[in-house]
Amino acid sequence: MSIINNSKTDPNKILPITYPWARDYYKAGVANNWTPEEVSMQKDVEQWKAPGFLSSTERRLILWNLGFFSTAESLTANNIVLAVYNHVTNPEARQYLLRQGFEEAIHTDTFIYCCDTLGLDPDEIYNMYNTIPSIEEKDNFVVELTKSVFDPTFTTDGEENTRKFVRDLIGYYVIMEGIFFYAGFAMMLALKRQNKMIGIGEQFEYIMRDESLHLAFGCDLIKTIRDENPGIWTQAFQDEIIDLVKKAVDLEKRYAHDACPEGLLGINAEQFSQYVEFVADRRLERLDLPKVYGRKNPFAWMSQATDLSKEKNFFETRVTEYQTGGVLTWD
Ligand code: MN
Ligand code: FE
Repeated sequence: MSIINNSKTDPNKILPITYPWARDYYKAGVANNWTPEEVSMQKDVEQWKAPGFLSSTERRLILWNLGFFSTAESLTANNIVLAVYNHVTNPEARQYLLRQGFEEAIHTDTFIYCCDTLGLDPDEIYNMYNTIPSIEEKDNFVVELTKSVFDPTFTTDGEENTRKFVRDLIGYYVIMEGIFFYAGFAMMLALKRQNKMIGIGEQFEYIMRDESLHLAFGCDLIKTIRDENPGIWTQAFQDEIIDLVKKAVDLEKRYAHDACPEGLLGINAEQFSQYVEFVADRRLERLDLPKVYGRKNPFAWMSQATDLSKEKNFFETRVTEYQTGGVLTWD
């Protein structure tokens, strides 16, 4: 049995299960179900419209993060459906990919909901991946890295092609969802901690909870492919992955500096750099690769937000312990 390149796998036969961990991710995703309309945007609308409540820098930061995430979610969804799903034929892994695809649709819907309720100009938000260089650079980095897998004649036959496929998984799961999302998460949650735009902040908390599962699934998928195809995991390939992570960290730091200039939210640019480096080391460790930066987490409140099983109490409009189903532990 193997998770890719297995001509004996019938994608229609999910039982008996070969990879119980993949099914666990599906159950965990379902237990975390939410929709953006469950979060009230009333206070956000008032704050957004109140003259002078938000500084112009804070307004720009919010717009930039909506701009980055709105297109990044679509890119991620397309990659699942058009690239990953084709090559991962194992049925329980596919079951999770369907769930992840649905969650990306929820995330796409979240940014539609935010644009609609705040009355934002969609042409401005949805064009930021063309008009804001540090957003464009992040998207282009992932798109370039994963291009070969979108060739309709691409297969995962042989070690070179398997490496190409793993490069795609690194690009989306580890770099896009695991690094490029995290400065934005920290900015929006820092605003929420100051009671600013708490509706959007809560939506970002839900998205972050989903993304932490996507990232963990992606890493387990990469490790399974690696264990089943040990020949791909050469020193040169490991060095290449570390190099990609370093380049991604540089792009994410540039984005953080541009979107959140010094002194905003009580956080300075240096702390954002430190946070991005800390996050990147966690991703490398998850892939059994050596740490590069050796930084401490400057935002203890972020690790609380990511590690807790945060659920919403729909009656009190705040995040508490509430889950619709089973629980999953990983790591
Ligand atoms: Mn997403
Ligand atoms: Fe995701």
